[in-house]
Amino acid sequence: MPQSAALSPQHFPDWTQIDDVLLDMDGTLLDRHFDNFFFEEELPRRYATLHALPFEEARDRLMTMYRSVEGELAWTDLDYWTKRVGLDVVAMHKELDHMIGFLPGAEEFLRHLRQLGKPVTIVTNAHSTGVLVKVAKTGLDRYVNRIVDAFEVGYLKMRPEYWPNCQRLLGFDPSRSLFMDDDEGCLMAAKAFGVAHLVHSAKSSSQLPPALLPQFLSIAGFAPLLNGRSPA
Ligand SMILES: [Mg+2]
Repeated sequence: MPQSAALSPQHFPDWTQIDDVLLDMDGTLLDRHFDNFFFEEELPRRYATLHALPFEEARDRLMTMYRSVEGELAWTDLDYWTKRVGLDVVAMHKELDHMIGFLPGAEEFLRHLRQLGKPVTIVTNAHSTGVLVKVAKTGLDRYVNRIVDAFEVGYLKMRPEYWPNCQRLLGFDPSRSLFMDDDEGCLMAAKAFGVAHLVHSAKSSSQLPPALLPQFLSIAGFAPLLNGRSPA
């Protein structure tokens, strides 16, 4: 299946060509509305209160801080943010865990993969503490063989170094693996490494419209992945 052309949703992955399934967590299986709200609304609000700042200024300061470590492990390291911002972001995650949940159809997709007998690994940029909060809330771990966070690999997924390290850790064959993510940079890095079957999650948040990427099989729901056969 060509990966460079704009693929329409009727072009399903051919599951007979796929041995391993690698799935992103936030924005692919879980609703990224939680993360967007947390880092763009709630943390700025609490930071504004802590420093007696207007909300906009607090948000601008935090956005500058986020950008300063973008692409580095610190970017998703909740302990790092607790220290840097001076607010307990882990406790805040637990406080707001009612906002953590699956994207529509994600659990059905995971059950489908189990029926197909495909080993499924979550490959996430998230920090292990954040993974624990999300697993406790959703039971995501019940559906998958393994969850690998970026700290185990040593890099974030958008970095070229991530993929050979992740491959050594998991032992998958890139030419017979499917990787799904909502982040273009992560998909590009996987493509450069040779992961053959790439799927873009275009509907990362229940609260945002789909953002399709023309260069990947870009889908706004799991339906195209459920039947699992190339149109003959
Ligand atoms: Mg994601």
